[in-house]
Amino acid sequence: MNKVAKALINKRFYILIALGIGVYLTVSMLHISLWYVVGAGVLLGVIFGKVFCRWVCPMGLIMELLMSFSPDTKVQQMYQYHKIGCPIAWISGWLNRMSLFHINLKTDSCKSCGLCDKKCYIVAMEPTKYSLYKPDKINPGNSYTCSKCLQCVAACPNGSLKYKVRK
Ligand code: SF4
Ligand code: SF4
Repeated sequence: MNKVAKALINKRFYILIALGIGVYLTVSMLHISLWYVVGAGVLLGVIFGKVFCRWVCPMGLIMELLMSFSPDTKVQQMYQYHKIGCPIAWISGWLNRMSLFHINLKTDSCKSCGLCDKKCYIVAMEPTKYSLYKPDKINPGNSYTCSKCLQCVAACPNGSLKYKVRK
C-alpha cells in the first residue's frame, strides 16, 4: 500500500481526535439536529462501511480514551467486538456487507503469513469463524463488528489486502 494511506491508518486516533472534537463543536455551537449527524453517518456507511465510530464520532473518541487506560488488550478487544452502538453503528455495521468500499484480498500475492489476522480484534475474538486470508473462513471486514480500523490493510507486507471499491 502507498505510504500516505499507511500513514493515515497509523494516525487514525489523531484523526479521530480532530474530527470528533470538530463534530462536537460544530453540532453544539450551530445547534445542528442530531438527525443530520445520523444522516451523515449513514451516508458515510453507504460509501465506506462502519467508519464513523472509529474515525469521526465524539463518543467513540471518549470511549477509546477510556479504554486506553485499560492495560488488558483482551478487555479492549472485548469492547471493540461487543460495543453497543448508536443508530449510526447499527446501520453502518449492517452496511459493511454492501458498502461501496470494502476490504479485498488479492489471493495471488498473499503469502499466508497471518499478520493481518493478528491485528484484527474480530479474528482475536472468534478465530474459528473469521480470517482475512483463509479461504474457509468469513472475511471479518464484511461483518457487523468491523469498524474499519484498517489495521489489517496496513499490516500486510505484500499489499495483498486493499480497501477498495467493491466489484
Ligand atoms: S478493518 Fe480489518 S483489522 Fe479492523 S476490524 Fe475490520 S477486518 Fe479487523
Ligand atoms: S498479511 Fe497479507 S500476505 Fe500475510 S496473510 Fe494477510 S493478506 Fe496474506
